[in-house]
Amino acid sequence: MKRELAEAAKDLAAYIRTLDENLAEPPCKPRAEAGDPGSARAPRPAATLVLEPAASPGAVSSEPEIPDMDSLAETVRQCRKCGLGHARLNAVFGVGNPGAKVVFVGEGPGFQEDHQGEPFVGRSGQLLDKILETVLGLKRSDVYIANIVKCHPMKNPESPESHGNDRPPTTEEMSACRPYLDAQLRFIKPACIVTLGSVPTKILLNIDKGISTVRGHWYDYPVELFGPANPIKVLPTYHPAALLRNPNLKRDTWEDMKMLKSFLETGKIS
Ligand code: SF4
Ligand code: URA
Repeated sequence: MKRELAEAAKDLAAYIRTLDENLAEPPCKPRAEAGDPGSARAPRPAATLVLEPAASPGAVSSEPEIPDMDSLAETVRQCRKCGLGHARLNAVFGVGNPGAKVVFVGEGPGFQEDHQGEPFVGRSGQLLDKILETVLGLKRSDVYIANIVKCHPMKNPESPESHGNDRPPTTEEMSACRPYLDAQLRFIKPACIVTLGSVPTKILLNIDKGISTVRGHWYDYPVELFGPANPIKVLPTYHPAALLRNPNLKRDTWEDMKMLKSFLETGKIS
């Protein structure tokens, strides 16, 4: 027992040290041909999806038939369903393994993501990569990473080249975009979702509780994508940007990721 505790303390210390190593501001790459929906190519399910306009951010979607993830990514690239589609540089569809067991969901792309067309590539993203690697032993290409909204919410939409221009997505923007996330989930069929921070947690769980209250607990995804007997499990945790602002949250995040690791290894909630 003592030895296990000592091992856990050593692991935690190593994780905190790794996370504390400096994160570089990524160079601003030229505009990507965005929308590569995933690097690792796993076989895709042959399901055909129907998207429909969602009435609320919690609702699921319909409309044109979407046969696969690539077509869905193309639909998102062409999308102008909300105002964000007019100001974005690149739609940020999602990245990773389309057969992943776990999908990480953030709120929406920022400056770097808008420029590169990939989610979580700024400082928060580098921290997320480190967490994945140190606690779970996974790369971003092993999991799937996406956002509630696929286009960059900006305070001043005329200035996509300005830093400090991020804002949270509005309820209307999230309602408009939410169907795409559920469509992604239908194709991926993950065992679980990790919501990063309070915005995706509130929207996906349809609750109004603070992240510090709900983190570290398992929930059932209220949208029954695969029938009532097969709920996707949802584990809320802190957004990596919150860890950058408040390093004291790293420990709780470590606990949450250990819970995730155990679920991914055993299929059981501990
Ligand atoms: Fe379409 Fe979503 Fe972009 Fe709005 S944020 S334009 S709904 S892809
Ligand atoms: N924050 C998010 O919520 N999503 C990103 O893709 C990047 C930062």
